[in-house]
Amino acid sequence: MTSFLICSSLAIMLQGDGKSPMPSPWKNPGYMKLVWIQSPNFGVRPDGYEIDTVVIHSTVIPTLEKTTEAFQRVASQVSSHFTIGQDGSIVQNVSTFDRAWHAGVSTDHFGRQNVNHFSVGIELVNLNDGKDPYPQAQIDALHAILVVLKRRFPIKQLTSHEYIAKPFGRKNDPTIFPWEKLKDLGLPMYFGKPENEK
Ligand SMILES: [Zn+2]
Repeated sequence: MTSFLICSSLAIMLQGDGKSPMPSPWKNPGYMKLVWIQSPNFGVRPDGYEIDTVVIHSTVIPTLEKTTEAFQRVASQVSSHFTIGQDGSIVQNVSTFDRAWHAGVSTDHFGRQNVNHFSVGIELVNLNDGKDPYPQAQIDALHAILVVLKRRFPIKQLTSHEYIAKPFGRKNDPTIFPWEKLKDLGLPMYFGKPENEK
């Protein structure tokens, strides 16, 4: 398995070099390291959309390996651009220039539908049971990805899957996520219940 130190290589990985097969036996790439294991579940972004949104998810699936496996299965019809393990390991599944399948039926804070068209999806390995914590190592890796995405794209919001999923209540991830730890990025953050649902 080829893995890359995130600081030196994420900019390259965003574009699509260095893809690896599903490693056997599985080994997490390690803290702040990234391995690209391409998912078959993706499509072309429609013309006329700028990538300006990041959607944060939690996997409910307990490990990075099992989440990666799920995204390898065509039958699952799901993927994300990145999945981050609780140890800060990163798997990329889809190029950010392609459309991953993570949001489902969705509307964002600005009333725009089909959030997959214009967003990057990031999955955090977490049971989403309201108890499983998001370790600092995992937040570190997420933060590093967001810094690079901000540099690359005109990102104007971070949002939760819960906030955008329609009808409201269809999804509740990421539960108990510490949004305040991303405050220094200076991006508007939309999570919890949208105004128009209150
Ligand atoms: Zn989700």
